[in-house]
Amino acid sequence: MPTPPHAIGFTLDPLDRVSEKRDDESFVHALRADPATRFLLFVNNVPLFKRASGHDPLFGAQEAQTLGTPLQTVFLGRDADRRALFAASFDEGAQALHDVEAVELRPVAMQGLVPPPLVSALGEARSMLDWHRRHRFCANCGQSTDSAGAGWRRICPNCKAQHFPRVDPVVIMLVTDGERCLLGRQPQFLPGMYSALAGFVEPGETFEHAVYREVLEEAGIRCTDVRYYASQPWPFPSSLMIGCFARAASTGIVVDRNELEDARWFTRAEVGAMLDGTHENGLSAPKPFAIAHHLLKAFAMNELD
Ligand SMILES: [Zn+2]
Repeated sequence: MPTPPHAIGFTLDPLDRVSEKRDDESFVHALRADPATRFLLFVNNVPLFKRASGHDPLFGAQEAQTLGTPLQTVFLGRDADRRALFAASFDEGAQALHDVEAVELRPVAMQGLVPPPLVSALGEARSMLDWHRRHRFCANCGQSTDSAGAGWRRICPNCKAQHFPRVDPVVIMLVTDGERCLLGRQPQFLPGMYSALAGFVEPGETFEHAVYREVLEEAGIRCTDVRYYASQPWPFPSSLMIGCFARAASTGIVVDRNELEDARWFTRAEVGAMLDGTHENGLSAPKPFAIAHHLLKAFAMNELD
């Protein structure tokens, strides 16, 4: 199995999350008050960047305070220099801050405008703040819930239920029959782009079963021999992409038009051309930021057993 490269986006976690100290309020309070501590700031799930320094998302405590009282704060962890990093969200009014611009995370990350470790921290922050935004009420009794554990859970004051941030596993799999691989097109893809098939893991399923089911549902292909490759946090809002290879046990494609616009077999040479941007019909594949790119590349380079 080829080694997953570091180019996969959102996978370079730079932080010691110090998760065992999240409930230690004096520890977390002292970190927040430390002048070396830095903040990632968000308005409506969109990170803020200092205009004067390219795309610098790191703000000091005083800079963060000028935005007012945060809607939510999360302790993300400490970097290699033991400087703490927090995420904080603000309401719309904060966008008026001088020399600061709000730019969606996805294009910033995909264009490489921020160093990879910071991209990972921004992804962690975005998933956490979005979870708080959408889980303000108890799923058990409907009461407003309170943030606890430095932002890593919510507690219901009425029924005492604890709610934890969610991660939604998604299998993304490259199915091959040896010399060809199966790729599909979703209607919302850029024109000409094909990628590995993907789908959410359902309760009660293993990753392997989710791969078998999704490939059969979407393309009518039975597959076997699922092998794990690598995973990728995908913070839109909180997926975890589980990259796999699988071997086709049948070759006759039946496309589920509700899910896919097209699916077909591609030769190794064709996939190589799609990755290089030299496909004769202009077909393309996902960029290196996405784990799908690396699944396709491993196949194109003949790195699979
Ligand atoms: Zn409750």
